[in-house]
Amino acid sequence: MNHSNTDRYVGNNRQYARGQSVHQPTYPGKQPIQPAQHVAVVACMDARLDVEDLLGLQTGDAHIIRNAGGVVTDDAIRCLIISHHLLNTNEIMLIHHTRCGMLAFTDDLLKAGLEGDPAAEQLLGQATGRAFKSSGTCAATPAAFHAFRGPIEPLDAPRNAQNIERLAWDVRRGMSAILNHPWIPTTGPDAVTVRGFIYDVDTGTLEEVSYPGPMGSIR
Ligand SMILES: [Zn+2]
Repeated sequence: MNHSNTDRYVGNNRQYARGQSVHQPTYPGKQPIQPAQHVAVVACMDARLDVEDLLGLQTGDAHIIRNAGGVVTDDAIRCLIISHHLLNTNEIMLIHHTRCGMLAFTDDLLKAGLEGDPAAEQLLGQATGRAFKSSGTCAATPAAFHAFRGPIEPLDAPRNAQNIERLAWDVRRGMSAILNHPWIPTTGPDAVTVRGFIYDVDTGTLEEVSYPGPMGSIR
């Protein structure tokens, strides 16, 4: 099985960042259900990422799983298991990005705001520039928001050494969660490869995250 499609998509990204169009937007005709390039991408829902465009993915090439942060959640794992075992993908790309909103809050802060803590409401309002409206109620779900670990920063802050490190931590945590999942094979003929990236929304460029490495500190 060819495991080099990730490299090709990283190459496409260099062209995209230079202003070239690498995604064909037209209907490709009838296609099989299995992704043609055997790739699954997990990426943040951020409006500035157009995953097909920035990787030059063609319709039918890949599964694209998106959520707030591009976090490897229970549901992302569910999707990846189905993607691999039923639909024959074997390369996973994780994509976090600079200026991510998940750097700007903590789970405790958002929960407190939603439940009606006035101090949390005020902080969240200042951070987002949007009046935060609490429901004043508690809820059992979601169990977690998966805000990124580390000291929070203003929403949409430019990249710096600290927030790049925080992004890299969460990419590695996601890679570790996938690579250590008992139902995702990483050795033998059915092995899946996992590579992680940070996308710079100010340049359009993907940067690879080294793995293994540190996965975070609460300081
Ligand atoms: Zn994001």
